[in-house]
Amino acid sequence: MTNRLDDLELKARSLEPDADSRAELTRQAFDYAQTYLDSIASAPAYSDKFVSEDSLIRADFSEEGIGFERVLGMLEKDVDTVGINTTSGRFVGYIPGGGLFHSAIGDFLAAVSNRFAGVAFASPGANRIEDQCMRWLADLVGYPASFGGYLSAGGSLANFTAIVAARDAHDVEGEHISRSVVYLTEHAHHCIDKALHLSGLGRCPVRRIAVDERYRMDVDALESQLRADVEKGLTPFLIVATAGTTNTGSVDPLRPIGKLATRFSAWYHIDAAYGGLFALCEETNELFEGMDLSDSIVLDPHKTLFLPYGTGALLVRDKEHLLTSHAAGADYMQDAIHIRATSAATVSPELTKHFRGLRMWLPLQVLGIAPFRAGLAEKLHLARYFYDRISELPNWEVGPVPDLSVVIYRYVPTGSDADSFNEKLVEAVHKDGRIFVSSTKINGVYMLRMAAVCFRTHKKDIDDIIDVLTELASLILVK
Ligand SMILES: *Cc1c(COP(=O)(O)O)cnc(C)c1O
Repeated sequence: MTNRLDDLELKARSLEPDADSRAELTRQAFDYAQTYLDSIASAPAYSDKFVSEDSLIRADFSEEGIGFERVLGMLEKDVDTVGINTTSGRFVGYIPGGGLFHSAIGDFLAAVSNRFAGVAFASPGANRIEDQCMRWLADLVGYPASFGGYLSAGGSLANFTAIVAARDAHDVEGEHISRSVVYLTEHAHHCIDKALHLSGLGRCPVRRIAVDERYRMDVDALESQLRADVEKGLTPFLIVATAGTTNTGSVDPLRPIGKLATRFSAWYHIDAAYGGLFALCEETNELFEGMDLSDSIVLDPHKTLFLPYGTGALLVRDKEHLLTSHAAGADYMQDAIHIRATSAATVSPELTKHFRGLRMWLPLQVLGIAPFRAGLAEKLHLARYFYDRISELPNWEVGPVPDLSVVIYRYVPTGSDADSFNEKLVEAVHKDGRIFVSSTKINGVYMLRMAAVCFRTHKKDIDDIIDVLTELASLILVK
């Protein structure tokens, strides 16, 4: 017995590296990170390479392991240089973020001490830190102290949790479902449809409310639809406004929509995953006026607070709604739940979770809010700069003046089809790799998008992006 235990302890020993091994592992990881970060300025924003069939990252795990050095080599070859490079300042597709180094350090420390962030009893400090992050966001939104919320894995999950809370607060179940109407625009994020389905509300009638020429929800159209539905004996259940649409960055008129929600007793949800943190900037805070009227709101720190992926935030004006939706108990939790402080686990679907508050709290504490505000304001000005420069170039056409930091635009060739030209252009951009832009369809028209969100995107990057776009467009023209 003793021999067997000694033997097993010995064989498992590598799970606990000694001080020298820790120093060596950290040095290797740190050197790798330094080389990676030092090369970003010249690295491609996209590589269409694929992970080959015989790539080492596909190899089966062995009993003995292959060592850290070889693993770093695999990361470098088949992970960190393949696909979209979301850390590049010239990556302006979808909604970027960048991935703050200070957050990476926070993640490292959180993983080393492995604080149990789900329950206040287990780690009062980790809970306090998440709470602190939520309070800061709640102040920005204008919620009262009785709000509730949590840091989720992302915006989709946060939107899902909001819709579950709305469903429970309005008792939307059984035959009520097909009479409970949801209102949003065609520019609402597709995760809302997914959340409705996941929460059992797939049969709710959904009204896509018309938008104005700047792709913001038309409040008069919303009002008419609400009235029409009430006349038909239906119940207005949920109004979803988007504060910063993914397509065009448009902000729906938050206060007028909120007033209608109150008048028609509907739950008012704001999806501000991309846009909400622009409320930190004086240039745009007026657009966010009325956020405080909502019943729930989602923000994505892994977008506009530049955090690495894995951090969204849900806030609900009245914490009771979250407590109701997530109430549960278990005998094996009896020591943990006598503490009255609200725990993340009592207001969200998760229990054991990564101490993700640290990756947000640490950079805000160390660096202060000012550089975040400046970084976001810079993005707003860069979007205007891009908009102005592109609209001055011959044959380039822009959409409406951007509300935030997304610009839609396209090249209109003389005498040939614009849609297929811009499709070719996106293909050429992706093949080239120096920059990355994505595309969308607006009213059936193929448009290009430029989303300035990454903290590493500066004026020089925007100039480079315009140079590459014009260069590649002219190459297509001569073909
Ligand atoms: C990104 C985004 C989402 C989805 O959030 P994830 O963090 O990607 O899950 C939802 N709504 C809007 C407006 C977004 O921009």
